[in-house]
Amino acid sequence: MTERLPPWLTRRVPKAEVLEEMKDMLEGLGLHTVCESAHCPNIGECFAKKTATFMILGDRCTRNCRFCAVTSEKPLPVDKDEPIRVARAVENLRLKHVVITSVTRDDLEDGGAFIFASTISEIKKINPPPTIEVLIPDFQGSIQALGKVIDAHPEIIAHNVETVPRLYPQVRPQADYRRSLNIIKMVKDKQPDIYTKSGLMVGLGETKEEVLGLMDDLRGSGCDIITIGQYLRPSSKHLEVKEFIKPEVFEYYKNEALKKGFKHAASSPFVRSSYNSEEFFLTLTKR
Ligand code: SF4
Ligand code: SF4
Repeated sequence: MTERLPPWLTRRVPKAEVLEEMKDMLEGLGLHTVCESAHCPNIGECFAKKTATFMILGDRCTRNCRFCAVTSEKPLPVDKDEPIRVARAVENLRLKHVVITSVTRDDLEDGGAFIFASTISEIKKINPPPTIEVLIPDFQGSIQALGKVIDAHPEIIAHNVETVPRLYPQVRPQADYRRSLNIIKMVKDKQPDIYTKSGLMVGLGETKEEVLGLMDDLRGSGCDIITIGQYLRPSSKHLEVKEFIKPEVFEYYKNEALKKGFKHAASSPFVRSSYNSEEFFLTLTKR
């Protein structure tokens, strides 16, 4: 990261032994996490709590979003045993709430939806089963692919819009804002009891009005939960940070989101889609 960070964005360097223990376990099972692949700033905190977000379908993405540190390269063939190994890691870590995401696999006919569904089904065999949240790609808008994930019935299906529509060409050139909204809508229409969730990064040059408009679009698509966090540049090859958004603006966004009817809103500089998701899910289901 090259930008000088404001005081509210400084964090302690995580302890090496905390990271090593988790990395060894994950490497031993041949698994990837988005925590490492996306250079998440919360990795020390999350790994110390023995939580992680598993990234399935390999660690090479067929897309090249300008904010993302995941490697953009031709992916390796699908590993059909990956779902069983993810379930083993979930058991090892005694997770009560699991978050699974993936790279985008535009090279596969179903975008890898089958592997999502089998991962969910393997995790559900654990006794007692943890709650499951999947953060899915857009499957190029395919209802057939999405249907496989919905039918596996995780508790939460998330799909991030990432930024406001005006910035899509610079930020997510291979994505489509309306298609992403439609993913949320299709989940809610087909299975209303699954919680829907979406997230965005701020600090990319969006205006407050655009963020509020995006919230309206998400609510109009049936989105229950919103996450908002500060964009941080993974390297000098990625998009520059246009603005470090102040904590009070994050608070404002949270209040506005709740006024607009989101069941839950997490908005602060270090919020990422999966940050503290277990706690958030518990709060949500107690209401
Ligand atoms: Fe991993 Fe999510 Fe924690 Fe980041 S916030 S370290 S992606 S679990
Ligand atoms: Fe990163 Fe997802 Fe974009 Fe791939 S599709 S580059 S994993 S944000």
